[in-house]
Amino acid sequence: MTAQIIDGKSFAESVRARVEKAVARLKAERGPTPALAVVLVGEDPASQVYVASKGKTAKALGVVSIERILPATASQAEVAAVVDELNADPNVHGILIQLPLPKGLDEDAILARVDPAKDVDGFHPQNVAALALGGAGGRAGLIPCTPLGSLMLLKAHLGDLSGKEAVVLGRSRIVGAPMAQLLLRENATVTIAHSRTKDLPEVLRRAEILVAAVGRPEMVKGDWLRPGATVIDVGINRLPPEASGGVSGKTRLVGDVDFASAAQVAGAITPVPGGVGPMTIACLMHNAVVAACRQAGLADPEEFAGLIG
Ligand code: NDP
Repeated sequence: MTAQIIDGKSFAESVRARVEKAVARLKAERGPTPALAVVLVGEDPASQVYVASKGKTAKALGVVSIERILPATASQAEVAAVVDELNADPNVHGILIQLPLPKGLDEDAILARVDPAKDVDGFHPQNVAALALGGAGGRAGLIPCTPLGSLMLLKAHLGDLSGKEAVVLGRSRIVGAPMAQLLLRENATVTIAHSRTKDLPEVLRRAEILVAAVGRPEMVKGDWLRPGATVIDVGINRLPPEASGGVSGKTRLVGDVDFASAAQVAGAITPVPGGVGPMTIACLMHNAVVAACRQAGLADPEEFAGLIG
């Protein structure tokens, strides 16, 4: 069997097109112009690249982009003051704290300080609880972007997920844990596997749906999969040049799934790059527009209908 490729890059383009349409309609109807603020503390080069890319995407879609950059030496109180100011500003609808924060800052306290209505990353305890308590079909708060994007790809590919055997490999609060909650809301039968799981290949072989978010390059092999499984590979791992198979001096991005062997067994699989990665920023923009609508007392945009049901 050769798996169908789930093209996250083109799906993300379609999500961005929906965002652009929703923003234009809100403007035409004199509704809010969604505005997204990103708070960056310090000078981590990877974080700077992410922040620039978020700003560029926002502007391209008509979302107002605000960047608040603080030095790595900023104190807890200084970061908190910026969050408070953004919370209080009615023209700011979404707030994202670029992680990781420099050592010495209390990340949990900063994340919990963000107004849950503006928490476009879905990391505030109130949004975490809303997702956990929502139950089947309940309206969630704001949903973390990477699991949200993964769910959109799954629903576009499989339709109804009800009754499917799903295994989520990884239980981080950013990906694994919210992903499992989302699948549960879709009435899948969900197993969460992690570093203490015994006989991992055997557990994974149950999965009609596998979401791998483990952070270990090419760990999941083809013979760990159930034939025909739908595989969402969240992993983004950069292999050094010496491990990149011949192309001298070049690093290579790989997922948590060994694509070559998995594609022989799976029914469908997301590639890396070009799978879940592009969905994350598209979903961030989606969340910024949802947040703006909810703050204005409007229904969620009609343009997003059918993305997650
Ligand atoms: P974390 O390191 O926070 O979590 C990894 C999880 O995998 C943990 O739950 C851990 O278990 C589990 N794990 C680690 N080793 C093993 C093992 N040998 N066997 C079984 N389980 C194991 O990672 P994240 O969730 O933040 O990220 C996961 C991957 O997704 C990374 O490659 C990351 O780069 C990528 N990512 C991609 C994004 C995107 O936009 N596409 C966004 C965010 C992340 P335990 O809890 O027991 O320690």
